[in-house]
Amino acid sequence: MIDISTLVRDNILRLKPYSCARSEYRGEASVFLDANENPMNTPYNRYPDPLQEDLKEKIAEIKYIRPAQIMLGVGSDEPIDLVIRIFCEPGENNMVAIDPTYGMYQVCADINNVEYRKALLNEDYTLDAQRVLDMADDRTKVLFLCSPNNPTGNVLNRREIRKILNNFGGIIVIDEAYIDFSSEPSWLRELDEHPNMIILQTFSKAWGLAAVRCGMAFASEEIIGFFNKVKYPYNINTLTQKFVYEQLEHKDRKNKWVKILLEQRELLAEKLRAIPFVEKIYPSEANFLLIKVPDANDIYNKLVKKGVIIRNRNNISLCLGCLRITVGVAEENEILINELKQL
Ligand SMILES: *Cc1c(COP(=O)(O)O)cnc(C)c1O
Repeated sequence: MIDISTLVRDNILRLKPYSCARSEYRGEASVFLDANENPMNTPYNRYPDPLQEDLKEKIAEIKYIRPAQIMLGVGSDEPIDLVIRIFCEPGENNMVAIDPTYGMYQVCADINNVEYRKALLNEDYTLDAQRVLDMADDRTKVLFLCSPNNPTGNVLNRREIRKILNNFGGIIVIDEAYIDFSSEPSWLRELDEHPNMIILQTFSKAWGLAAVRCGMAFASEEIIGFFNKVKYPYNINTLTQKFVYEQLEHKDRKNKWVKILLEQRELLAEKLRAIPFVEKIYPSEANFLLIKVPDANDIYNKLVKKGVIIRNRNNISLCLGCLRITVGVAEENEILINELKQL
């Protein structure tokens, strides 16, 4: 059994967290003269619930987990940064991530002066668990996996991920930002079996709430306790807590959007297949398609001139000639296809 506290940085273990006014009392109260708030302008005058209890209860219901297994952050960016700050001693520890993948892991590692090691995926973007494990040494505290992966769009093989879970004694992060678009199940069902696993999901993609900045980390209660200790006390403001709570009542609408986008993804792939210079369309379990073309920079620049913006991934590992296209609504996808046809 893994003892999480042996993985945590000493200063974080010793840390006496900030105790906010609202967390210092127990019981019923009606007069709040403890936090130097303005008594007028209800309800915006009051500090938000630092642990977002109502919202977490709602999320726990939908995800079939316990509220104590949830941390909410300002986007996924916040838990990504916190994982590094909780477990990795700057200039001493390192982390390993698959390559290519989401760019934010490396940015957060660099900001924290934590060595970032890249474990290359296979040519077909499948995961080689042994390569990831071989890259880790006794200074490796965290592994980052992303499934479905950005920008490759594929789901990482379950058996390979399980091999990593069974053979690595540090923290394993699985970023599931695109899980709603995938036919594969989430790793959330195995949360109780892996006390060192952290699953990231977000409201930014399927839920259509990128502007709101709310991300979720799911993990053992012990890990969530460290997140709570280190995060800014009032990281999620009251407007966001209430708004996201309301949005969660419209799960059907989210599912309908996902269905539309999955249909559009297949339609877009079909139309791209008919364009002669598109050499390859990679299979996708996300809300985007990665394609390969002879001159990605040229096509990217020509589309920009037409006012159509896609993502140029030409310069990242294993993605020579690759462009990433987010699936839009039917009209947007048609405009893209028409512009490509005219190149
Ligand atoms: C888009 C994306 C996210 C979401 O980030 P937020 O900060 O929650 O908006 C997380 N991980 C990956 C891999 C992504 O592509």
